[in-house]
Amino acid sequence: MLPIPDDKRFQELDDDGFQFACHPDVACFNQCCRGLKLFLTPYDVLRLKNRLGLSSDEFIDRHTMIRPGQNGWPQPLLKMTDTYERTCPFVSDQGCTVYDDRPGACRSYPLGRGARGGQAGGSQEELFFLVREDHCQGFEQGPHWSPQTWSADQGLEEYNQINDLFLPLITRPPKLVPPPAARKMAEMFFLATYNLDLFGRMVRESDLLKRFQVPPQRVQAMLQDEVELMKFGFDWLGFTIFGDRTLTPTTG
Ligand code: SF4
Ligand code: SF4
Repeated sequence: MLPIPDDKRFQELDDDGFQFACHPDVACFNQCCRGLKLFLTPYDVLRLKNRLGLSSDEFIDRHTMIRPGQNGWPQPLLKMTDTYERTCPFVSDQGCTVYDDRPGACRSYPLGRGARGGQAGGSQEELFFLVREDHCQGFEQGPHWSPQTWSADQGLEEYNQINDLFLPLITRPPKLVPPPAARKMAEMFFLATYNLDLFGRMVRESDLLKRFQVPPQRVQAMLQDEVELMKFGFDWLGFTIFGDRTLTPTTG
């Protein structure tokens, strides 16, 4: 979760919730699926590459541009089509063609999720806000939502759960180290977060697992389930890059 952005389109949501409906009959249908600057999370990439039957590498090459994201960590930005309107490559006249696996940001709109506090180890409060894009005519019509009912309706819980495990990595800047080590750190970050197929191969074929005390059930789970592999990748990065106690080494 992030602090609420300082932007007039963002309004803190009170207990009344919000009214919203988006469907093919709204005059603005599909207008939001163009000209986006949409950084994908590792879980977004996992869902989309499987949806499209691509490897992580193929998806990243075909559909993204790697750019410095939060705190300068390399992150894939969804490539818009090379047309005048710069539409999303997945939009059609009927709507989103990857709807069941659309990115978390597409599911969440117009709801945003942020946090207040948490500095100096203090407690952090979850809060929600609304994003009102000028072109969007979905407000003041349709059902009434609370953040919880909207999140459940849009299938956001799994996205939030996994993205919350990723946030502790990108909300901290990389260590200040000489350029070759900084490059290596960025490569490790990208491998274990976004290039999951390659990371899986490294886990299976190198001695990486021998260097940590990983319970056999966890090894089994992560070799069968990409989400478990991704969670291990986050722990490995936390340990290797930031010295978090997310894994226990076998020696020392
Ligand atoms: S992924 Fe789907 S919902 Fe998201 S911008 Fe593209 S077409 Fe729209
Ligand atoms: S602009 Fe708003 S109402 Fe229109 S299609 Fe997009 S989300 Fe739906």
